[in-house]
Parts: sequence; structure tokens; C-alpha cells
Amino acid sequence: MSRRRVAALIGSPVAHSLSPAIHQAAFDAAGVDWAYVAFDVAPGRAAAAIDAMRVLGLAGLSVTMPHKHDVAAAVDRLDPAAEALGSVNTVSWHQDELVGSSTDGAGFVSSLADDGVDITGADVVVIGAGGAARSVIDELGRAGAASVSIINRTAERAESACRLTAVASVGSVDDITGADIVINASSVGMGVDPAAATADQLPCDPTLLHAEQTVVDLVYHPLQTAWLRRAEQAGARAIDGLGMLIHQAALQQQAWLGERPDVDVMRRAALAALAAQ
Ligand code: NAP
Repeated sequence: MSRRRVAALIGSPVAHSLSPAIHQAAFDAAGVDWAYVAFDVAPGRAAAAIDAMRVLGLAGLSVTMPHKHDVAAAVDRLDPAAEALGSVNTVSWHQDELVGSSTDGAGFVSSLADDGVDITGADVVVIGAGGAARSVIDELGRAGAASVSIINRTAERAESACRLTAVASVGSVDDITGADIVINASSVGMGVDPAAATADQLPCDPTLLHAEQTVVDLVYHPLQTAWLRRAEQAGARAIDGLGMLIHQAALQQQAWLGERPDVDVMRRAALAALAAQ
């Protein structure tokens, strides 16, 4: 009898997700008999998908838009980050309970650590206040950032994100030059040809960036955004969004298997899948 275990992604759409390539490569490299599949689950059907996980005995679940909030309400228990965010990107079994966790923020901090960037005591600017930004802001507070200034097009969403951590406040472009780390967590720049980007396709005026800073773009399509390119030209250390994607997936596998996967294998699989798109 096959002992194969199945982990899955639920979201909509999922056709272009890099998760199947990343996870399957790591399962194969670890020599475990796990398969990873993606299911396009219609909006509003997240609770039914969690029921299906129980009935079918799926061993782990990744969750992407638009289901992250609905899954938080459908699992048995939440980890602290998922509880704070009201959002789940990972479901795993703890005995016979389904636990929802959120690995995006921790994945972000791990990816910076991989690049030798320490959050402790840093003054950080986050541009954006959507789901990705909220995960990052929450974890920046846990990781010991000195301050987090949030700049967002819609002021109410910046105010709401501020409530995630005591070190956060609503910021402005005036905070950018004084920051140690500047993060684009908005979707500005996504899908934009770096060679043809106009000023309104950059998350902030790149002349505000300088050589003493680390500049991170969560957008990973394209991998080197126009904004990151300009940050590099300004002498800043520029970090793309692929590291966060890889590390949040690595933390998912750790939750499912109890062991840390090979992140280099995951990165190579992600780059190959991106190149094929
Ligand atoms: P989201 O919840 O839809 O939030 C989008 C954010 O971008 C909001 O703050 C929104 O501002 C802002 N925004 C959108 N268009 C804008 C514009 N024209 N001008 C100024 N601000 C604009 O999306 P999300 O899930 O947070 O994702 C944001 C980005 O992060 C996406 O590009 C996504 O691919 C990327 N991401 C990367 C990873 C990774 O692992 N690297 C993980 C998750 C997401 P308003 O509040 O004013 O609408």
C-alpha cells in the first residue's frame, strides 16, 4: 500500500503559483514520499476545503488569496501571528487538531537574516498596508525593530496596520531617507517592465534612497523591479521578494514534516518556474 502523503495549495487563481514547483522540489530532495498539488477553490468555499482536508486526510495545506481570512475561521486553533492577523497561509495537523499559522512575516525576517540583515533596533519604513504588509509589520514588531513607519495610499489601512505592533506609526515620505530599511510591500511595480517604468509605477521617489540603506521589494515578478534597480544605482543593498516566498514555504514544510527543507533547492525550483512563465 502507498504511504504517499498529499499536501495542497488552495487559492483562486492558482495556475501561475510557484508553490507546487517549490514544494515538490524540496520533498523530492528530502527523499520523502509527499506530493504537492494546487486546487483552484472558488471564493467563499474555504470552509468546505478545510472539511475536505479532514475527510481526505490531506497532510498539509498552503492557503493563498482569497481564502486566508476564511481559513482562519475554519481551523481548530491559530498560532500567535495568525491570531494577530486574522489570516492563515498554512494549515498543519497537531494530533487531531488543525492549526492555522501565518509564515509570511517570519519568512520575510528569515530571508533578510539570510542576506545578513538584522532587524533588531532598525528604523524601518513599510510602503503598503495590505495583506503582505500586515504580515511583515507584525513580524517586524516581534523581531525587535525600533520603529516601523507605514506609508499607504489609503490612510485608514495604514492606521489599522499600526495597531499590529506598538513600534508602528503612520509615516510619510519624509521618513524614507532616515530609515535603515525601506520595504515595498505594496503591489506597485508588479508586472511592470523595469526598463519602461514610469514614476507612478515606483513605490517611492528613488532619489530618497541611499547607500546606507537596505531596500527590499516584496514584488518578485519581475524579480528585479525598476525600484530595486534604482535602489542599487543609489548604492543601497537591494533584496528581491523571492527570499520571502522561499522562506515562508520552508516554514510551511517545517510545520508539516518537522524538519527544515533545503532552501537552495527551493530557490532553484522557483527560479526555473519563473523562467518558464
Ligand atoms: P493587497 O492586500 O491587495 O495590498 C496591496 C497594497 O498595495 C495596498 O497597500 C494598496 O494600497 C497598495 N497599492 C496597490 N496599488 C497601488 C497604487 N497604484 N498606488 C499606491 N499603492 C497601491 O496585496 P498583498 O497581498 O499585500 O500583496 C502586495 C504585493 O506583495 C504583491 O505584489 C504581491 O505579489 C507581493 N507579495 C509577495 C510575497 C512574497 O513572498 N515575496 C508574499 C505576498 C505578497 P491601498 O490600501 O490604498 O489599496
